[in-house]
Amino acid sequence: MTSRPEGTPVRQVRPKSALAASGAPQVRPKTEGWQQKKDAEGRPLLQFASPKRGKPPVHLADLAPDERVAKVKELGMPGFRAKQLETHYFTHWTHDPAAMSDLPAAGREEFVHGMLPPLLTEVRRLETDRGDTIKFLWKLHDGALVESVLMRYPGRITLCVSSQAGCGMNCPFCATGQAGLTRNMSAAEIVEQIVKANRLIADGGLGGKKRDDHSAERVSNIVFMGMGEPLANYARVMQAVRVMTDKKHGLGMSARGITVSTVGLVPAITKLANEDIPVTFALSLHAPDDKLRDELIPVNSRWKVDEALDAARNYFDKTGRRVSIEYALIKDMNDHGWRADLLADKLNARGRGWVHVNPIPLNPTPGSIWTASEVSVQNEFVRRLNDAGIPTTLRDTRGKEIDGACGQLVATTEDEAAAAATPNED
Ligand code: SAH
Repeated sequence: MTSRPEGTPVRQVRPKSALAASGAPQVRPKTEGWQQKKDAEGRPLLQFASPKRGKPPVHLADLAPDERVAKVKELGMPGFRAKQLETHYFTHWTHDPAAMSDLPAAGREEFVHGMLPPLLTEVRRLETDRGDTIKFLWKLHDGALVESVLMRYPGRITLCVSSQAGCGMNCPFCATGQAGLTRNMSAAEIVEQIVKANRLIADGGLGGKKRDDHSAERVSNIVFMGMGEPLANYARVMQAVRVMTDKKHGLGMSARGITVSTVGLVPAITKLANEDIPVTFALSLHAPDDKLRDELIPVNSRWKVDEALDAARNYFDKTGRRVSIEYALIKDMNDHGWRADLLADKLNARGRGWVHVNPIPLNPTPGSIWTASEVSVQNEFVRRLNDAGIPTTLRDTRGKEIDGACGQLVATTEDEAAAAATPNED
C-alpha cells in the first residue's frame, strides 16, 4: 500500500453514467464509415415492393373460410371436408395424409396435398439455453431462406416469426436489413412457422423438463420480429393474424399476445389501428431526433419521428392497447442521457399511460462497426425515462449464441449450402 501525503487531493472519478450524460462522444453511421445506399433519385434506398418470384402454392391458411370450402369443392370433395382439414392443421398441427383417417383413402394424398401443400422445409435447427431457445432455418418452395426463433419462458412460449425473406428497410445495424429483400412471404408461410413450432412443442422438443407431458402446450405469444418489415407486407400479415386469432377456423390465439413491430410505416400504422384485431403494437424508434434517425433508420426519410409517434399514439387511442417503443442501445450513437430526456419529453407531450419503452442492448451483427452501450449507460438511460414517468424496462435478449437474437437473422453462405443440400419436403 502506498501512503498519501496529507492534504493531497483525491482524484474524483466521475461515474460513467454521468460522463455519458455530458461529455460522451457522438458518433453517427456516416462518421463510422457506413453510407446509406441511394435510389435513382438520390433518396435513401428502400424496397417496398416485393421482387417478382414464383408464388408459393396456395394453401388453406391463405384463404378465408368460405374460399376454403370453394377450393375443397373444386378438388371434387364435399365442402365439409374443409373443416376436417382445418382441425388437422390448426389443432393437430399436421399435414400428413397418413394421419387423416377420417378422409376417404381414395385420392386422399392428392387432395391433402392440394389443400395443405408443404411450405417450409427445415434446413437446420440450433439450440441454446438448455434447449429453451431454438432457432429454425427454413427453406421456402423457391429456395428463399427464413428463420424463426422459439423461446420458452416461465408461463409462456413465444415464437419470433419472419414475414419477409430478407428486408427492404436497410437499417445499418440489422443483419437482415443489410441483406436486402428477397420477397414477401405468403400468409400461410407465416402461419406454418407456428404450426411447425406447435408440433415440435407437443412432441417434447422445446426444453422444459423432458419427462413432463407437453402435449397440451403450444405457442402462446407471437412477435413479428424475425426477418422482414411486417407492415411492408400488410395484406398477407393481416391474413396471417386473422388465422392466428380465429377461434373457429384458425389457431385461436389471443390478439394481445401477438406483437406487430414496425420500423415506422406511418400510413400502414394508421390502417392497422382501424382493424378489428387489437394486436400489440411496437415501434422501432431507436432515436428521438430526426438528425440521427435519418441516418440510422432510412425510412425516416419518408416519415419523421413526430409523425411516427403521432401514429403510435393514435394506435393507443383507437385500440386502448398500450404501445411499445423499441430502442436498441448503441454505444455513443444513440445512448446519450439527453436523448433519454428528449424521448421522455416527446412521449409525455402526447399524454400519460399510453406507452412504455423497451430498450435493448445492441446485438452484434457480422462485420458491424457498432457495439452495445455500456451497462452503466444502459441503466442511466432507463433511469431517466422511468424518472420522467415513462415505464421502461430493458428487454431480455435471447439467442445471441446462435445468432438468433434481434437483428441477427440473416442467411449465411453456409446456410445456403446447407439449404441446397436439403431436398424440399413433399
Ligand atoms: N422490421 C420490424 C421488425 C424487425 S426486428 C421492425 O423494424 O420493427 C425487431 C426489432 O429488433 C426491431 O426493433 C429492430 O430494430 C431490432 N433490431 C434490429 N437489429 C438489432 C440489433 N442488432 N440489436 C438489437 N436489436 C435489433
